[in-house]
Amino acid sequence: MEDEAVRRLKEELTQKAIERSRRSDMLVIYQKWCKACGICYDLCPQGTLAADEEGKVYITYPETCTGCKICELHCPDFAILVIGEPRKAPKAVEKQGKINQGS
Ligand code: SF4
Ligand code: SF4
Repeated sequence: MEDEAVRRLKEELTQKAIERSRRSDMLVIYQKWCKACGICYDLCPQGTLAADEEGKVYITYPETCTGCKICELHCPDFAILVIGEPRKAPKAVEKQGKINQGS
């Protein structure tokens, strides 16, 4: 019973993360095309991307994205599109990016 509740909570949290990612003004993620290889979230210098329960990418904090396009250029499945011009992350956001990366 508890396992079911935990599973539902995880599903809900994952769904919320996906909904957040849809609101990014810099990134478009085609989750259906993602094969969960991990390249993008391992390479993202800002820690903007992370893996959901299936290893598929989602956006953690959209405001940390600088539009550097590393994720788009390295995704073998064209599952990420970076829109807009590259921008410098505000100081507080840069700090959050480093925290996301665990440094
Ligand atoms: S690089 Fe592409 S296929 Fe690999 S996890 Fe990221 S979005 Fe998915
Ligand atoms: S464009 Fe750069 S900062 Fe933004 S998610 Fe991709 S790799 Fe990270």
